[in-house]
Amino acid sequence: MARPPIELHRGDLRIAGSGLHLDARRRVECAFVSHAHGDHIGRHDRTIATAATLALMRHRLGEPRRRPGEALPARCRAPFGLGELTLELFAAGHVLGSAQLRVTRDGRSVGYTGDLCTEPTHAAEPAEVMPCDVLVMESTFGHPRYAFPPKAEVLHAVRRFVDDALADRVTPVLLGYALGKAQEILKYLSDHGYRCRVHPVVHAVNRVYEANGVALPNVRPLGPEGPADDEVVVVPPHLARSQAMRGIRRRRTAALTGWAVDGARWFRGCDAAFPLSDHADFGSLVAYAKATGAGRVFTVHGYVEPLAAALRREGIRAEPLKAQQQLELELP
Ligand SMILES: [Zn+2]
Repeated sequence: MARPPIELHRGDLRIAGSGLHLDARRRVECAFVSHAHGDHIGRHDRTIATAATLALMRHRLGEPRRRPGEALPARCRAPFGLGELTLELFAAGHVLGSAQLRVTRDGRSVGYTGDLCTEPTHAAEPAEVMPCDVLVMESTFGHPRYAFPPKAEVLHAVRRFVDDALADRVTPVLLGYALGKAQEILKYLSDHGYRCRVHPVVHAVNRVYEANGVALPNVRPLGPEGPADDEVVVVPPHLARSQAMRGIRRRRTAALTGWAVDGARWFRGCDAAFPLSDHADFGSLVAYAKATGAGRVFTVHGYVEPLAAALRREGIRAEPLKAQQQLELELP
């Protein structure tokens, strides 16, 4: 008898009949959390995630005073049972600990990517291909206009920006999200011998990264004295004008975001912007969907229709996941 294995219910992805939710925002009985960004986490009764994601969640959410949930750390590529389901995590390459999930029942499988970056990053585990029959995939940059240059090229351009600013005796200030983007640029710069200072919010996340095996030498929190002449500052965009930044006398600012491809409206007030992304671009999303071998793809979050249309042109049955939809694990 065909049983619907996944249904989207009030914006909440879940595996029907199992009590397993995917990246649920409200408290649920049992959730797989793909990674620790704010729009993917919540306090749940039971949380399945990698050890690094669980550590980053504890940092972001704090220890609950009442009803602490149960953390179920899972390793990538180590299948385990949950009721009649078999679960297996695959690295997603997005931020430290990020993972995709494959759920198998009766020999048929559904894969869920969470946020995905197929190009190797400097501070996250490289993404792995997750073979599956049905794929539910993120579509953040799922439009053909999002074609990022190779990461090495982007990082080189950022480095040139930093060198130019330092040569002009101006502090280079790089704007990147506190979890993921900041550590990627810090890892790259500190490994190349640059001395970096960070907003305290970034420093707190760095400590979790370091505890989970990502060394960030040459990185210190910003103090009231401000950075020295040869130091680079990394700060989340919304804190660029915060109290902690007061000690910087002359600055030159660059935004690090995939949206830089869209031009100036995304980085108003910055001197430069570089398309350094922790998401796959359009071409990489299409290539990834093909690599999984999935005969059926559902797109979620972002440019769902352009991505689905591109996959249909590749001969894959693809469509945006509807508000409420039940998927049958039939042969595609
Ligand atoms: Zn994310």
